[in-house]
Amino acid sequence: MQEDSYRHKGLRQQLVQVLKDKGITDVNVLDAISVVPRHVFLESSFVEFAYQDKAFPIGSGQTISQPFTVAMQSQLLNITKGMKVLEIGTGSGYQSCILAQMGAKVFTIERQRNLYLKTKPFLEEFPYHIKTFLGDGNKGLPTYGPFDRVLITAAAPVIPQALVNQLKTGGIMVIPLNDETDATKQRMLRLTKQADGSMLREEFGDCRFVPMLKNIGND
Ligand code: SAH
Repeated sequence: MQEDSYRHKGLRQQLVQVLKDKGITDVNVLDAISVVPRHVFLESSFVEFAYQDKAFPIGSGQTISQPFTVAMQSQLLNITKGMKVLEIGTGSGYQSCILAQMGAKVFTIERQRNLYLKTKPFLEEFPYHIKTFLGDGNKGLPTYGPFDRVLITAAAPVIPQALVNQLKTGGIMVIPLNDETDATKQRMLRLTKQADGSMLREEFGDCRFVPMLKNIGND
């Protein structure tokens, strides 16, 4: 793994300040951003951009989400230590590490075989015990649930019922759901599971993610 220098640490503090200025208030989220070295998740040619608040390509046609998006989704999840969190869309593994650094037990699913084969061993270099799976996130992980939190990091055409079923009562799902009137964007939703199984819905503005696809593949 690439080294983490004082310069990188300083750049992370600047990024934390940018995220504060954009409205991120959860101290656990900001602490995690200040600890996890984002530059090691990027192709080496992009390292100097690692601490700008921008998304970047990570190969296989996928992206590492913008730091603000990672921070916003993590904040909406309202994580406390020891929670079981299911993430859909492992991608680079950066979001998984942020959740793990916040004290969550992270289970993460990736559908692209190439990315999974690259990211799984990479995540094992961190001291977090993140459990990485190759599969279709629409189906979740029935044998490992129920989960306190579910985080979807790809643009979902619908709310996957299997993931609702694998959420505990009182649990929270954060999901970028496709906008019915504009196919280029999503609405960021926080859904809280009620005792009767219904989902309380809150909206947090527009966002843009790569599409959530079905089945395993390399496309
Ligand atoms: N959380 C990632 C962001 C990944 S981008 C990070 O921090 O880097 C979204 C990812 O979701 C892509 O890697 C894409 O391949 C994956 N994805 C898309 N549809 C999926 C599905 N049905 N199940 C699991 N992963 C999926």
